[in-house]
Amino acid sequence: MILCNLVHMTSAARDTSHSALTGVPVVPGVAYAPVIRPGRLPGIDQLVSVGEVAESDRDQEAARFTAAAEAVAQRLRERAAHATGAASEVLGATAQLATDRAWLGAAEKRIRQGVPPVKATAEAVEQFVEMFTKMGGLMAERVADLRDIRDRVIAELSGLPEPGVPVPEVPSVLLAEDLAPADTAGLDPALIVGLATTLGGPTSHTAIIARQLAIPCVVAVTGLDDVPAGARVLLDGTGGTVAVDPDEGTAEAAVAAAKEAAAAAASWHGPGATSDGHAVGVLANVQDGAAARAARDTPAEGVGLFRTELCFLNAESEPSVEEQARIYSDVLEAFSGRKVVIRTLDAGSDKPLKFAGHPEEANPALGVRGIRVSFNNPAILDNQLAGIAAAAEQTGNSPWVMAPMIATADEAKDFAAKVRAHGLVPGVMIEVPAAALLADRILEHVDFLSIGTNDLAQYTMAADRMSPDLATLTDPWQPGVLLLVAMTAKAGAAVGKPVGVCGEAAADPLLACVLTGLGITSLSAASAAVTAVGAKLASVTLEQCQRAAEAVLATSSATEARAAALAALG
Ligand code: PEP
Ligand code: MG
Repeated sequence: MILCNLVHMTSAARDTSHSALTGVPVVPGVAYAPVIRPGRLPGIDQLVSVGEVAESDRDQEAARFTAAAEAVAQRLRERAAHATGAASEVLGATAQLATDRAWLGAAEKRIRQGVPPVKATAEAVEQFVEMFTKMGGLMAERVADLRDIRDRVIAELSGLPEPGVPVPEVPSVLLAEDLAPADTAGLDPALIVGLATTLGGPTSHTAIIARQLAIPCVVAVTGLDDVPAGARVLLDGTGGTVAVDPDEGTAEAAVAAAKEAAAAAASWHGPGATSDGHAVGVLANVQDGAAARAARDTPAEGVGLFRTELCFLNAESEPSVEEQARIYSDVLEAFSGRKVVIRTLDAGSDKPLKFAGHPEEANPALGVRGIRVSFNNPAILDNQLAGIAAAAEQTGNSPWVMAPMIATADEAKDFAAKVRAHGLVPGVMIEVPAAALLADRILEHVDFLSIGTNDLAQYTMAADRMSPDLATLTDPWQPGVLLLVAMTAKAGAAVGKPVGVCGEAAADPLLACVLTGLGITSLSAASAAVTAVGAKLASVTLEQCQRAAEAVLATSSATEARAAALAALG
């Protein structure tokens, strides 16, 4: 409700409708087009046949099921081969899930007991949906993938067309309750010009892929389910609104203005600075060499966050120092002679690594994750630092190295000593409120700080960053979060050490200006956001940023904070 008021207030200048629905803005941009909705299977209940498979047919039916699952996986693999970046990875991961022995085995077992294949598919998937939901975090996010695979396999078994997003004849805005990552990854930005979902958070897969595809996107939109296919909507990915049947002239003017702004942004080539020349590093977040090479095609000046754990999510055992050195070198070479910040493994919580030996935990987001994994297993960190040092030597590009989830000054001190022993530059991430509060004491040990606003928001607001129901709380515009950012930046300025932001907050052009006003020295964002962030920064003065920052810190809600920034920065 607060968010509704906020968006109505802040977008008053471009308010186009009496009935704007509101959600959490994820990818900026404006689209005005008719609605399409993803196709659904005609009610799984109707397809689930009753009765039992005759004993003599069971082998054949099990084989038919296996073939259907393989056909689905093969189609997903083909789509992965034709996609790039995160989209390709998501499609590949969904294909892998389609051939996962655990759920396939559960379904086959049922078929061999006489359960018809469609019913066995539905039951086996539901068993794993329950298990994943209980596990929470990233596993819970995979529920959408599992249900997506279920529907595709059932359609294959029933001889029905594959469910999913239809290919529209005219550019359209896609509205859905939630989208399977495989569907989002396959979207054509020329035909799907906007995207809004009822569920999903700002860091969900849908959001990440929409950002990569640069499709204006709003998630967690209340009331979206009532908007029928065919209705015309004006979607504003900056303000976070979906206006149903808006005044046509006003809507077209809003689209034209957004296009003009995007064209102006596209001509920005860096380096990052305000219009009056205050330098702010504009950097890219990457997860491997391929992403780093893609980032090099943007005006990003370097890499502000290399999420190393994402290289090893499927690794069965700890990669050797040599193997790690090869992977890190790939990124260091892509940005040869330029700044690269490598983050040591942020294993645990929603990103468990098989070789990290995670304990069973009731509350993994508050458990042994990030730097804490090395407390009982120091070799993991030592080996990684050895791999990074080897990569630095091989490439001649010496990275800065930072630890995730630091909570105390002692942790920072120990980490810094280890990093320095390898001749590397140490820093830490500020993601835990205690670390922001003690940033001055942490800075006695390290050379730089980088604020992870995704986790800082999660822990400050006591709200799971994966929960769509809590998306308005994990909004980085929350003034409580921004006050901690301000404290951290001030501590860095006092001792002349850099303080960057590498969470999703840095990908929001308006918020990037506010962060600059708070004293942040570099902004690291997804490659797709780099140009928009740099261009916005280049259009405002440092004084405007500082005024916006001051105004934002005086507000009491994320809604008010956005409105205050818009008023100061336009
Ligand atoms: C963050 O928490 O803001 C961050 C950058 O780390 P991650 O999103 O990988 O947890
Ligand atoms: Mg984090």
